Amino acid sequence: MKTARLAARQLLKNYSFIDYVTNLYAIAAKTGIVIYKTDKLPDNVLGSARLTNTGIWVIVVNSNQIFTRLRFTIAHEIGHIVLNHSHSEYHLATPHNTWQEREANIFASELLMPVTKFKDLYFNRHITDDLDIAKYFKVSKQAADIRISEITGK
Ligand SMILES: [Zn+2]
Repeated sequence: MKTARLAARQLLKNYSFIDYVTNLYAIAAKTGIVIYKTDKLPDNVLGSARLTNTGIWVIVVNSNQIFTRLRFTIAHEIGHIVLNHSHSEYHLATPHNTWQEREANIFASELLMPVTKFKDLYFNRHITDDLDIAKYFKVSKQAADIRISEITGK
């Protein structure tokens, strides 16, 4: 799981933040990944990552998700690619709890709420409410809750 965090931090290196929001499109462009949004996927499919026969990684995401969930899905799929998971299948709304899924979630959490940014917000600026943190990083309350407990143990 340490690998997932390090991989996310590596990707964020040399990346300039305007605010607290990770620009996933900039990260994807830097990594050579194409993001494609569509409303044509079944409701229970959130997203997928697949390698085209021309060697380009494409992330297909269901645009019917709420914005914060969509961001997490994209970050999660970037994780599968960056972490070299063998992965080409669609994601269901209730994903299988495999180590690769957990690792991709940890990666997404680190990418969307980078540890230095999170600590700055939480400890220096004393923004500790989960809903406020969620707004700063443009993530769901649930994702913010998980990150808070990871970093502060609360
Ligand atoms: Zn996954």
